Amino acid sequence: MSETIQTLLQENRTFPPSEAFKAQANANDAKIYETAAADPEGFWESWARQLDWFEPWHTVCDFKPPYAQWFVGGKINAAYNCIDRHANSTRSDKPAIIWEGEPGDSRTITYGEMLDEVSRLANALKSLGVGKGDRVSIYMPMVPELAFTMLACARIGAAHSVVFGGFSAESLEERTNDAQCKVIVTADGGWRRGHIVPLKATVDEAMDLGCPSVTNILVLKRSGQEGEITNGLPTPKYNEGSWVEGRDIWWHDIVPQQSTDCPCESMDSEDLLFILYTSGSTGKPKGITHTTGGYLTGTFATSKLVFDLKDNDIHFCTADCGWVTGHSYVVYGPMANGATVLMYEGAPDAPDKDRFWRIVEKHKATILYTAPTAIRAFMKWGIQYPDGCDMSSLRLLGSVGEPINPEAWMWYHEVIGKGRCPVVDTWWQTETGSIMISALPGITPTKPGSATQPFPGISVSVYSESGSSVEVTGPDQLHKATGGFLVLTKPWPSMTRGIFNDPARFQKTYWSRFENAYFAGDGVKLDEDGYLWLLGRVDDIMLVAGHNISTMEVESALVDHPSVAEAAVIGKTHEVKGQAIAAFVILRHGHENHPTLVDELKKHVAHKIGALARPDDIFISAELPKTRSGKIMRRLLRDVAEGRALGDTTTLADPNVVSALKDKYESSES
Ligand code: ATP
Ligand code: MG
Repeated sequence: MSETIQTLLQENRTFPPSEAFKAQANANDAKIYETAAADPEGFWESWARQLDWFEPWHTVCDFKPPYAQWFVGGKINAAYNCIDRHANSTRSDKPAIIWEGEPGDSRTITYGEMLDEVSRLANALKSLGVGKGDRVSIYMPMVPELAFTMLACARIGAAHSVVFGGFSAESLEERTNDAQCKVIVTADGGWRRGHIVPLKATVDEAMDLGCPSVTNILVLKRSGQEGEITNGLPTPKYNEGSWVEGRDIWWHDIVPQQSTDCPCESMDSEDLLFILYTSGSTGKPKGITHTTGGYLTGTFATSKLVFDLKDNDIHFCTADCGWVTGHSYVVYGPMANGATVLMYEGAPDAPDKDRFWRIVEKHKATILYTAPTAIRAFMKWGIQYPDGCDMSSLRLLGSVGEPINPEAWMWYHEVIGKGRCPVVDTWWQTETGSIMISALPGITPTKPGSATQPFPGISVSVYSESGSSVEVTGPDQLHKATGGFLVLTKPWPSMTRGIFNDPARFQKTYWSRFENAYFAGDGVKLDEDGYLWLLGRVDDIMLVAGHNISTMEVESALVDHPSVAEAAVIGKTHEVKGQAIAAFVILRHGHENHPTLVDELKKHVAHKIGALARPDDIFISAELPKTRSGKIMRRLLRDVAEGRALGDTTTLADPNVVSALKDKYESSES
């Protein structure tokens, strides 16, 4: 087996920050990298000091792999830092949340109002017996009350476990039991693509499956009963679920009358802030834990530097709070900075495919943070949608969730950012808590498709299979282009404190492959300028005739072809080569399959990256199997291509997609 991952794709375009952006940026001096590398603990401490602590720490970091403690002995409250310190000062009347519901209803909540709302809710939770050390499941639509609930839990010292509102009753039941939650906070329903997602009915189903730790269900009225009017639209028919007296409580029956006086619990820096189950792209979700002081320090610092967050920004992160991105860059990071966040409830194509752009235009968003899967969908839909909107308020664009292929990066930069806005591709994970690799927009010249540099204070290495390493220490170093395993070699404040109730799995998944280093599970290449290029998950990397080839690079080459909107590439068992490359391709709007297309695409890949990467099979498809967070599940495509029964599909957005794909694939083969 070859030692390193072959890296094939070449991308030479560079985009240095403009002088104008640089001049106003929160970080514009490259010395920050040297300073942080010389004393990472001191660097992080300087950020922790910008938060409000009730008591100081005595030790910055205590690292006994695989566990680290940060700001040991310090006392802090996350809600205090995200609300009170702004509400009690000059930001009392500043909007904390600008929210838009899918039916078009809209609300603005100031920091002063949020303090009252969150305090009342915190008192209501206390009245249900929730206190310090308890856990609460949150199963809600993207409404302001979702953020209030997270912060109300933080206020009283209960850990939250947000379960994405698109997950099934089984998923909710499994996560609620694993975390032993006392209360589930939900809503009657939420809006998605013109329909109502019946949240309360799904909670009822989960309760029927059995959640013995749950004593109460707190229900926000969002959708209303059938026929009720929301923003001029009657609520359509949906399954409202049933009401269990004593157990189920309407939010409006107990929250509004509570006192707005609810002092923040003084939490230990290392007390649990939340549990979040990973999105499950690779298997059964893991209950990732995060504690208070370190997590808040990491999200606070990265928000300020990566998004260049300022007091007059309108920060639009399109992620749902069911994912870590919503935790770190809708709620904790921006709010610790006292920023204004723009929150949207529904789908990007409801009522039409220009919804995001209409929202940007209407609320004058300055920062947009979204995922490559969304960007590729926008490309597929066509530029007439963004071009019909005034998006001149935008000044910075971000990407997260998957490697962004250069074609999508360029489209984002040109069509959405009009070439004006720096694009930050941010690599991180639920486990890392905050951004680990990204450009700093006032310092780093960007390259389309590269996440560029480790964040200051973060130590990234590229390891070969045998564990020999290439250290990535700064932008000026010269390195030989090479691919390998992405490893973090020093602790950082927002790192996970483990998998809830499963220390063995934690050790095995992240800390057993290399000694005393965190193995992220992703492949990465380092170019001669010291830039990092994420290659996708190591499990997805193919072994073709003795060469490790990244699925991501072949996908990028396919998407580079004008007729391709999206591609998923897998290695399919092959008698001679070990694995052969198979691709599933979705065409762009207005492009049809034709008899020579498949051949044309194979040639295109061979031309772009070499004959070694030429796919054996290309299958034109209408859809690809994706997780609820929009990531392609390649393991299921391997099942399809190899004619196996499909593996676990519970975290898929739509399990029908993969079964239909399997049928079509099998009939095309015979
Ligand atoms: P599970 O761990 O349960 O399989 P998951 O890894 O999809 O699910 P997340 O923590 O949401 O759950 O995703 C983190 C992963 O997403 C990273 O390990 C990486 O594979 C991918 N990723 C995130 N951001 C980027 C990025 N900017 N570039 C490349 N890959 C990214
Ligand atoms: Mg993962």
